[in-house]
Amino acid sequence: MFDVIIVGCGPTGAMLAAELRLHGVRVLVVEKETEPASFVRIVGLHIRSIELMAMRGLLDRVLPHGRRRPAGGFFAAIAKPAPEGLDSAHAYLLGIPQPVIVRLLEEHAVALGAQVRHGCAVTGVEQDDEGVTVELADGERLRSRHLVGCDGGRSTVRRLLGVGFPGEPARTETLMGEMEVGVPQEEIAAKVAEIQETDKSFSLGPFGEGVYRVVVPAEGVGDRAEPPTIDDFRQRLRAIAGTDFGVHSPRWLSRFGDATRLAERYRVGRVLLAGDAAHIHPPIGGQGLNLGVQDAFNLGWKLAGQVRGWAPESLLDTYQDERRPVAEDVLDNTRAQMALSSPEPGPRALRRLLTELMDFDEVNRHLIEKITAIGLRYDFGAGPDLLGRRLRDIDVRQGRLYELLHRGRGLLLDRTGRLSTGGWSDRVDHLADPTAALDVPCVLLRPDGHVAWIGDDQRDLDAQLYRWFGAPGRDAPDPVGPKDTARR
Ligand SMILES: Cc1cc2nc3c(=O)[nH]c(=O)nc-3n(C[C@H](O)[C@H](O)[C@H](O)COP(=O)(O)OP(=O)(O)OC[C@H]3O[C@@H](n4cnc5c(N)ncnc54)[C@H](O)[C@@H]3O)c2cc1C
Repeated sequence: MFDVIIVGCGPTGAMLAAELRLHGVRVLVVEKETEPASFVRIVGLHIRSIELMAMRGLLDRVLPHGRRRPAGGFFAAIAKPAPEGLDSAHAYLLGIPQPVIVRLLEEHAVALGAQVRHGCAVTGVEQDDEGVTVELADGERLRSRHLVGCDGGRSTVRRLLGVGFPGEPARTETLMGEMEVGVPQEEIAAKVAEIQETDKSFSLGPFGEGVYRVVVPAEGVGDRAEPPTIDDFRQRLRAIAGTDFGVHSPRWLSRFGDATRLAERYRVGRVLLAGDAAHIHPPIGGQGLNLGVQDAFNLGWKLAGQVRGWAPESLLDTYQDERRPVAEDVLDNTRAQMALSSPEPGPRALRRLLTELMDFDEVNRHLIEKITAIGLRYDFGAGPDLLGRRLRDIDVRQGRLYELLHRGRGLLLDRTGRLSTGGWSDRVDHLADPTAALDVPCVLLRPDGHVAWIGDDQRDLDAQLYRWFGAPGRDAPDPVGPKDTARR
């Protein structure tokens, strides 16, 4: 009997496994593939995801594998630099291949004690009052108290739960791959620039070591159910550019659509959905992986609290309440970005207008804070603007705030020095620090770094500790994790 079985060891599943292990939850991840994905989506980790890596002590491991790029230019690929003074200590984009980020997250989860079984496809899920029974393709049955489907856009778990996935089907398909070319770079660059004047859906550029990344609309070629071939690429390149650039020797070829869908529910009893299993949208703006990893960050401590027995009754439901509206917003902004990328005259005129509007700092800032998720504010009820937002990584007496969050516990940052976390000290750290670079007396941070309370009154604080961390004094055994980073 596991506490939690996670289906799918993509970025969402691996992140969730690690978050659960920080709280000592017994986790098994089952992944149907035996090998990492062969195709390499270069994923941009946006600011909030980079911050999450810093909050769990992973950033030093991730940074050497990525390439830092300016944070701007992502909304509909409109080339505007980011505004000055973004509210983050990590105001950049980190370009990193998806298989690398998945590997690093899986290694992190395993180091914390998660079990991962590759080559196991889940085919059946049944739940009862005590737990969930999972059936694997080879007939083996496993039991857990909870199950989370992190099994991607075609989620088996979502289907077995009967959760609807309404939205728009794919209207356009795109071919993407890496291959070598047979013509000089200058010739390619000139042709690509000419086509991109009117068609933003096409790109062909060098990706190092003589390999080129090709992205081209799939219109009319190949069978959607079959993997694309190099001939499909040649055919589409000839149709769009008048030449196939002599492409040959593909490293990998893939095909993806622009379907946009959102799960009707994120939870059915003991089973939850996260990442692409709960939402899909076109990759424009590079938000899907970021959204999934952030789902996992929101869910991990709540599900751990449920398993450990301290979570208040409604805590687990706040996962859907908080994260589904975020996904709705991402779906909407990708719909807008897709519309702005159309070669039709109307959308092109709109794009020109938005490009002008982005010269206004506030417009540019709003869009970049949306894409990078640093503008996100959960609805925790009435209160100052900071309530519900994440706190940036600030200087504190001992160093940096995010270093104090490595263990995934709550944190009271107390500039008055007279408040107490009392009976919640097994779940919430207390840092009395009059030097903290804050302009409010105290904040209570949830384990995901969002501000749960602002004030200076002990009774108010106790009520909020109760709200987020349950009844005091119901001690849980020592959580696992990098203990050296937690300083009181
Ligand atoms: C071309 C392209 C470019 C992209 N670029 C970006 C970007 O720049 N930034 C960004 O944030 N996002 C990007 N994305 C989106 C991103 O790749 C996805 O959102 C992300 O992979 C979702 O992660 P996940 O863990 O939720 O699901 P997945 O990555 O799909 O992982 C699901 C896992 O579950 C496993 N699985 C499935 N079914 C079962 C089963 N029955 N039993 C056991 N295991 C199962 C799968 O094998 C897989 O490993 C891009 C996507 C595409 C197509």
